[in-house]
Amino acid sequence: MSAALLPALRAALPHATIWDAAELATRDPGFDARNFGASALVRPRDAEGVAALVRFCAEHGVGLVAQGGRTGLAGGAATSEGQVICDLGAMNRIEEIDPFARVAIVQAGATLGALQEAAAEHGLDPGIDLAARGSATIGGMVSTNAGGIMAFRNGTMRHRVLGLEAVLPDGRVFRDLTRVPKTSAGYDLKHLFIGAEGTLGIVTRVAVRLDPVNGASATALVGVPDAQSAQRIVRHFLGSTSTRLTAAEILWRNFAALMQRGLGYAPGTLPLDAPCLLVLGLGADSMDAARGALEDGLAAIWEQAGIVDGLVASSDAQAAAMWRLREETEQIERAHPMAPSFDVSVPGGGLDAYVARIEAGLKKLDASYAPYVYGHLADGNLHISVNTDGPVPHERHAAIEDVLYDGLREAGGSFSAEHGVGLEKREAYERHADPVKRDLARMIKAMIDPDNVLNPGKVVARE
Ligand SMILES: Cc1cc2nc3c(=O)[nH]c(=O)nc-3n(C[C@H](O)[C@H](O)[C@H](O)COP(=O)(O)OP(=O)(O)OC[C@H]3O[C@@H](n4cnc5c(N)ncnc54)[C@H](O)[C@@H]3O)c2cc1C
Repeated sequence: MSAALLPALRAALPHATIWDAAELATRDPGFDARNFGASALVRPRDAEGVAALVRFCAEHGVGLVAQGGRTGLAGGAATSEGQVICDLGAMNRIEEIDPFARVAIVQAGATLGALQEAAAEHGLDPGIDLAARGSATIGGMVSTNAGGIMAFRNGTMRHRVLGLEAVLPDGRVFRDLTRVPKTSAGYDLKHLFIGAEGTLGIVTRVAVRLDPVNGASATALVGVPDAQSAQRIVRHFLGSTSTRLTAAEILWRNFAALMQRGLGYAPGTLPLDAPCLLVLGLGADSMDAARGALEDGLAAIWEQAGIVDGLVASSDAQAAAMWRLREETEQIERAHPMAPSFDVSVPGGGLDAYVARIEAGLKKLDASYAPYVYGHLADGNLHISVNTDGPVPHERHAAIEDVLYDGLREAGGSFSAEHGVGLEKREAYERHADPVKRDLARMIKAMIDPDNVLNPGKVVARE
């Protein structure tokens, strides 16, 4: 979009906040420096405003990129000169919480944290959680099909969405705010927009399923010899009917050591010296019950699982210290600016073999490579960062991807577990996604967005 179009844009959206490129340059772009490369940002107040913006962009041949909390990790919200950002920040109301139907109706720009707080007032929870909860929006989470800490139990965002509203590339509004779990009334088209990263429509409202929450959740940090041992522990707690496993996060030693150093933890404060660490969350009616069940459960499985060391947090501060080890992943970026990061799903019992295979494969590429590996143990979602110094040349990046992704699809896993494709995994998508799936995706994009208005160049390639 040329600067000459700005007055027309302002006239078309008289009630929206609009920033030009100069204003954008002074603002924080979020987790990806490329987010604010656009020529303008528009913050509409409602779905009609979004529709007017979409129509304006379609009419003038301008690419439009939706942005929520700008916490996305796959470059899906990156923009370039000439494009316009549709910022959902002003559409952030929790419109309704129905405690009996256990559903929330929220505007797309509401943060996960705001929804969690509003639902908690009714003893309910959206059943999905991630470290970026303070900024990540429901619309962004729908669009990346976010997963997070509780996906092993409650599914990903796709499984939490009962209905949604989205503005299509031609400005029409797709309205399916179904708020009941059961509907088999033809194609369930809302799923087209979930995980589409803003390429098929701009999500404006969502009906989110809520679940009752336990009274309290206790945390433990457990040292184990390998992922298989950690999986034994998880299976043990999943078998309990009186408690509810809420989190099972695994940290391989290299990652745990980096975090410990970065966070300045004194040696011996936590049980940290084991090949793998497991952060467990267990919910029960009261904190005493949850802590007691964690202690008893760990004691019962200690020998069988080969537990090396373990500690149940005795205070909120100690639990927070355990969680910081897992969640403050910016330590990686601090130690290795521009380190390439990956997000894979590895099926079932294959985690130890997978990690051994990629460690060996990466060493073959460069003897100094020793990846940081951590993630959501119970659903096999591993995050991997490679300890490179400075930017990695394109060919080397592709070679690293091949080490990490080869064989994953055939084994029933995924080269992109929960962060999306965006720009980061565009080439990997071409090399590693099923070719028929790619063809269908191209056809759907061409049918719904023939002029390539919404988030052009992301996820699917256009001929
Ligand atoms: C510290 C940290 C921890 C994280 N942990 C997890 C985790 O455990 N699990 C996980 O899944 N992710 C995680 N993420 C990634 C990120 O939080 C998610 O991808 C989140 O869903 C992005 O939401 P957002 O509002 O920030 O979206 P943005 O970053 O603004 O956008 C992401 C994508 O969605 C599109 N989009 C945004 N809003 C809309 C809309 N209303 N309509 C259509 N398209 C839209 C954008 O165009 C872009 O393609 C983490 C990120 C950080 C920084």
